[in-house]
Amino acid sequence: MPNHLIRRIIILGGLSIIGILFIQSYWLLKTWDIKDKEFDQTVHIVLRNVATRMSKFNKTQLPKSNLVQRRSSNYYAVNINSAIDANILEQYLLTEMDKQSLNIAFEYAVYDCSSDELVYGNYCSPEPGEKGYNIKRSANLPKFNDLIYYFVVRFPKRESFLLANRNMALTLTLLSVLAIVFFLYSMWVILEQKRMSELQKDFINNMTHEFKTPISSIKIAADFLSNDPHLKSNERLSRYTQIIRDQNQRLNQQVEKVLNVARLERDRFELKKEDIELNSLLREIVNNESLKMKQGRLSFLPSENKVTVYADKLHLVNVVANMIDNAIKYSINDPIVELSLNEEQNHVLLHVKDHGIGIDRENQKKLFDKFYRVSTGNVHDVKGFGLGLFYVKNICNAHGWQIGVQSEPGKGSEFTITIPKHTEK
Ligand code: ADP
Repeated sequence: MPNHLIRRIIILGGLSIIGILFIQSYWLLKTWDIKDKEFDQTVHIVLRNVATRMSKFNKTQLPKSNLVQRRSSNYYAVNINSAIDANILEQYLLTEMDKQSLNIAFEYAVYDCSSDELVYGNYCSPEPGEKGYNIKRSANLPKFNDLIYYFVVRFPKRESFLLANRNMALTLTLLSVLAIVFFLYSMWVILEQKRMSELQKDFINNMTHEFKTPISSIKIAADFLSNDPHLKSNERLSRYTQIIRDQNQRLNQQVEKVLNVARLERDRFELKKEDIELNSLLREIVNNESLKMKQGRLSFLPSENKVTVYADKLHLVNVVANMIDNAIKYSINDPIVELSLNEEQNHVLLHVKDHGIGIDRENQKKLFDKFYRVSTGNVHDVKGFGLGLFYVKNICNAHGWQIGVQSEPGKGSEFTITIPKHTEK
């Protein structure tokens, strides 16, 4: 994956995460606020109703203002201007809360004028069996010097009560956190893979360069040997020298393939395009490749008219040679390979057809992937790296050409490159 793409993914992903977190926290705060207001309103209604019933019971007037006062987030004071019977108060509180469906634990206390103390009432909980709240009562229920006849109610479990009603919000928050964790994990995997592939690229690059020098030396030495008159007269030694030359050439081809891919993956990969007459170039390639063939036949059917394309000659030769090599490599008996050029109205079709082992549908889709090899493809003694078609595909892409394959296992394969006629210079 190219650097700029990773950078873009990280920036966009980071912005999305910030956006999600911002919206999520705004939304959470907003819903908390709404729920808190709802709670406060319901408590006010309950306490007002309780106060009204108490005043009716005591036959007194309620104060005109500040009847119910919220003294802290979960602590309310009710100023009722008359003596309070704790038993009746508890009764009223329970029924009024039930009417408003406010199912939350609470504790209450009543102010006693004679002792100037808040007298603890009781802890009531909707959960059966839950008794007494485990916190120092006096510390939790402060008294107020500005009021005379009043009672206080405290909701010790307000936070958990509000949270319990926000399952949906919490689930969505959890999902967002999961998505963020997953994104960060994916980024880590991508960066780690990139690091590995960079290491791999460097290694392959250095390794192939290191191979080139000894291969050239072997070539020079083998050429020198094969021209020696003593050796020419000795058939056995000449054969050995030929083997050295053949194998060295094969090694060179493999190293070239890897180097080509390494060049391709360099950041500043450029095509050196020129006008090329395809028929004559293909004929030349076919002649060269035919010389290398020990058995079988390689033929070329040119197009009727001359066809000129604007392309990088070196890469085009490599592409065609690669496909011919494969056609020969993956033929069981004597390879019969047909190269042909067809001119159509808007494009030229270059076909490389063989009668070899063929490729099944499943593998056809992955043929052009880097390092991909069909597992049963090693029929020939020359093994490959799975880089040839990856290189071919990349060169076609760089030129704006299309490459496709038609193949049937056991019958053979036909690779077709579609070259648009009017490519921009
Ligand atoms: P390799 O170096 O393995 O030949 P390529 O990228 O050139 O790598 O090819 C990938 C795989 O595609 C090969 O391993 C082979 O299985 C399959 N393949 C390529 N060309 C042909 C063909 N003409 N006939 C059958 N199989 C082919």
